[in-house]
Amino acid sequence: MNKTLSLKGLGILIVFLLISSLVLSGCSNIRQGENTAAKSETSEEKIISRENPDENPETSPNPVPEPVEPLIKNPVRCPLDGQIVEKDSVERRPLAVMVENHPKARPQSGLNKADIVYEALVEGGISRFMPIYLHNDVDRIGPVRSSRHYYLDIVLEYNAIYAYFGGSPKAWEDIPKLGVEGLNGIYDGLTYWRDDARKIPHNVYTTTTKIRAGAERKGFAKQKPMRKFDFSDEPYKPGGAKADEVEIVYSPFNYTVKYIFDEEAGTYKRYMDGKPHTDAETGEQLQAKNIIIQYAKTNVIDSEGRLDIRLVGKGDGLYITNGYSEKITWEKKSRPSKTVFYDEEGKEIKLNPGQTWIQIVTLKTRVEIK
Ligand SMILES: [Zn+2]
Repeated sequence: MNKTLSLKGLGILIVFLLISSLVLSGCSNIRQGENTAAKSETSEEKIISRENPDENPETSPNPVPEPVEPLIKNPVRCPLDGQIVEKDSVERRPLAVMVENHPKARPQSGLNKADIVYEALVEGGISRFMPIYLHNDVDRIGPVRSSRHYYLDIVLEYNAIYAYFGGSPKAWEDIPKLGVEGLNGIYDGLTYWRDDARKIPHNVYTTTTKIRAGAERKGFAKQKPMRKFDFSDEPYKPGGAKADEVEIVYSPFNYTVKYIFDEEAGTYKRYMDGKPHTDAETGEQLQAKNIIIQYAKTNVIDSEGRLDIRLVGKGDGLYITNGYSEKITWEKKSRPSKTVFYDEEGKEIKLNPGQTWIQIVTLKTRVEIK
């Protein structure tokens, strides 16, 4: 202690220290009280208010609910499925991908995101899909398989970029001859990959981004005229028979397709060989808003059992939507021209907005509707 400090001075210092200590302890008690109150609030609220002040109910007494649909800046009707979508997403070329339907290829990825899905036979009673993608960007599509020449007639209608992995002899011959712009997986390690979790040859996948990047590398045009469909403004119900169930027997061995109408959803849930046909990515069952059955003359052209399906010409069909069906006809004048579907009065049919499945069948394929 400092010798110069007087007794009086020491007294003042002691009093000062005492007061200070009382004040400090009082403050400390107040702070503790605050802490206790804070702890009584839920810790979740505290975390939210720190990370995002907008979500704090105290600072936003009238929180605006988040919109369910993302805002579309420039809304337009997609010419292929009639949905209202962003303008940029339809001002580009559609993509047509060969996707296989062997039991080992199921469930497939990305069929649910297509605007339109075609299904037709290849050899041996096996069916194969060709989904057409326009407005959606899709992260996984497959398994991708080889081309058959009759699918090219459809690719040309859309001026689509064609994604495939090899092909039949006639497809190899026709692709360059017809000027089809495509990406053959046999020569293209950038657009496709193999998923080791599945067995070869049922394991090739791609994405819409990879296909578009591949098309750019090849210098394909970014836009070309494409076929369009007409869409009904009001929900359309065909004037024919009730259609709650649709069964298409491509082959009794593993290739029986069934659709069952879901009144509430207004769509047809798809089944493959008696089991719900699902998407591998989401696990959700595939569903069609519209189903078109297109009968086409079909014959075997080689010893391997490969087919010719005549998609140029005229034929009969059925248009199924909203629980009802009606007879239609179709006509396609040349390989690149569009397939026009007519109602019984000879007017072009109008689709309901949503995904359309076009089921190309032979004249002998068993199709049952009830
Ligand atoms: Zn679309």
